[in-house]
Formats: sequence, structure tokens, C-alpha cells
Amino acid sequence: MAWFKRSKKSIEQQTPPDERRVKTEGLWTKCVHCRAIVWKKDLESNLHVCPKCQHHFRINAKQRLELLLDGRWVERDAGLGSIDPLHFADTRPYGERLKENQKKLGMKDAILTAEGLLNGRPVICCSMEFRFIGGSMGAVVGEKVTRAAERAMENKVPLVIVSCSGGARMMEGTISLMQLVKVSAALARLDEVRLPYISVLTDPTTGGVTASYAMLGDLNIAEPGALIGFAGPRVIEQTIRQKLPEGFQTSEFLLEHGFLDAVVHRKDLKAYIANALDCMVG
Ligand SMILES: [Zn+2]
Repeated sequence: MAWFKRSKKSIEQQTPPDERRVKTEGLWTKCVHCRAIVWKKDLESNLHVCPKCQHHFRINAKQRLELLLDGRWVERDAGLGSIDPLHFADTRPYGERLKENQKKLGMKDAILTAEGLLNGRPVICCSMEFRFIGGSMGAVVGEKVTRAAERAMENKVPLVIVSCSGGARMMEGTISLMQLVKVSAALARLDEVRLPYISVLTDPTTGGVTASYAMLGDLNIAEPGALIGFAGPRVIEQTIRQKLPEGFQTSEFLLEHGFLDAVVHRKDLKAYIANALDCMVG
């Protein structure tokens, strides 16, 4: 019975599925904080800070170096990689996870060390990569930070470390925890020769990294709204059996309670560090 059957295809069916919508995918992104729809190009030109609410999006290690250093820099200790000393496996073998991250991100571990200029002043700058196993600190990150401090001493230049980390890398067990001590000792030597170390804490800086070099700067500064802490809020709540105050473990909360020296907007970060080094070194 053809008279009640639609013999022609509807407009929708005539158009192939992938042409039905205007192709905007990948051009826009939603701000996780204010939920505004932001054009990705706008976000990039605004240093990955939401133009509506100033939420600081996470940026990668390389973008961070580009933000802080003048033009070119020389990467140091790029060849250091973990040997998976415990042959650790959880849901997957750690060695496999390492290889996959190294291939995907084009770096051996979760930190970059650069020798470059910051507003014309030679510095050693380390920048952590969160995408590499949550920016966790194992033997390689610990060794690179230690070497960066030693290199700063050799060159007699200031050290800047930008942290972005979930903490110690538990796949390396005690070896990852030993890094806290090693790095702290190297920073103490840097302090003895009176060279400045500026620590920049970005979202998130937690666990063993907070418990060692992130909080050991002559100046500890953070980006707005960053999560900074040792244990997560849920663990603390369960331990102390109390509700935590609002904004607990944010940069602003920590500044108010004397754990940080300043909270600095990303657009002012380079100038702020340069100015601080001018005051410290002259
Ligand atoms: Zn926003």
C-alpha cells in the first residue's frame, strides 16, 4: 500500500550523517569552571586562561617553558629514563606504561630541565608534565631536579621549578620516596651558596612533590585556583572526622594561611619571577 508510505526520503536521510551538523568540533571548548563555551583560539591567545572567569587551564611542560623563558633554551638530562627497578605491575606492567607515555609525549619522564634566559637573566628552569603518569616523581624526576640544582650551583644561576604533580610515583616504591630526601638535600646546598630558588605551584601540586621541593622555595608562588596539598581532602576528612572548610587546598586558601608567598596570574608570572630575581640577586 504505497499511498501511506513515504516514498521519498526525508531531508535528514538524504544528507549523510557526518554532514548533518556544522563542523565545529575541536574549535570550541567548555570551561570546566564557569561552563562558558570558549573558542579554543581565544583560550590559546589568552595563555590558556578562561577569558570569562580567569580559570587557569592546565598547560604542558613545553608550553610552560615557552611562557617563562625568552625564545630558545637548551634541554638538559633529556636522556634519563626509568629502568623499572621493581618490575612493577598493577593493572598493567609499569614498563609498558612508561614506554607508552614516552612514545605519546616524546619525553623520557615527567619533567623537562631547561637552561635558558628569563627576561635576559640566565636560569635553570624545570617544568613538570602532568600527562606523564600524573606528573609523578620517581627516580628520574628526583634525579633531574637534583641535577638542576647542581647545575644552578655550577653556573651560579637561579633555579626555577614549576610543579604539576600527583605526588611520588608509587610504581617505584621506596625509591620514589627517597627522592624527597635527595632533592631536599640538593636544595639545601643551593641555599648554602646563596642562590635563589623560586618554586611555582600549579594545578595540581600534591603528595611527595608538595612535601619536598614545591614547598622549599625561597619564594613559593602559585597560580590562582590551583589544588595544592599533601593528602586529598577526602582522606583528611575521613581521618580527622571533620568537614573541611570551603576552598580548602586552593592557592588562595594556602596564601591566607601562610603557606604561600603569593598567588600570581599566569599573564604576570614571568614578570613577577624576573622582578623577584632582580630583588634577590640584584
Ligand atoms: Zn571560565
